[in-house]
Amino acid sequence: MILFRNMQLFNFHTHKSSSFNNEISIWNISVEDVEKYEGLCSVGVHPWDIREPEVIAQIESVRNRSLLGNVVAIGECGLDKLCNVDFALQVAVFEQMIVISETSQKPLILHCVKAFDELISLKNRYAPKQNWIIHGFRGNVIQAKQLLQTGFYFSFGAKYNSEAIKVLPLWTFFIETDDALECIADVYSKIATDRNISIEELSEAMKMNANNILKLKI
Ligand SMILES: [Zn+2]
Repeated sequence: MILFRNMQLFNFHTHKSSSFNNEISIWNISVEDVEKYEGLCSVGVHPWDIREPEVIAQIESVRNRSLLGNVVAIGECGLDKLCNVDFALQVAVFEQMIVISETSQKPLILHCVKAFDELISLKNRYAPKQNWIIHGFRGNVIQAKQLLQTGFYFSFGAKYNSEAIKVLPLWTFFIETDDALECIADVYSKIATDRNISIEELSEAMKMNANNILKLKI
């Protein structure tokens, strides 16, 4: 791990505590735990976690916590056609997450499975001022270009389409571990190799993106 000495790596989205010393991460935390945690985190209603009849309370919990200083993004939230929750209900909950993101002025971390057309039309309809970042993006070059044109940003985890990551400008994406076993340094190494740049350059670009896209100061 000599390679990474003194280098800070920004991890856009994780569900676990860090396994790499010099990591700055956004922890996707449950609303119940957010008040006990002082680090950077995100809160949202994930489509998998939508439960009737508690859904109204779930949304209100996110709304209440959204103004906390260490909550730096809303999510993950979004649309998933492979999950059992009724799709119309998913859309209704996601629309509430959009409203919370806009009123709290915090970006959205998106989970999207087989629902990119719906996601694009919602973005066009709401014309949000906050940035929308699709986490765990595994789409191909055509999807990546289409989403880029619609103003989306991306985040890549351990599994991704290496052709897609090569065509996106460096200022349009982040790097994450999500719930994978790999540590953030492994994901940075892989992406630096695919992009044919140094890890230092990649690390600097990701910190700059965190400051520009997420309004962090790191
Ligand atoms: Zn996640």
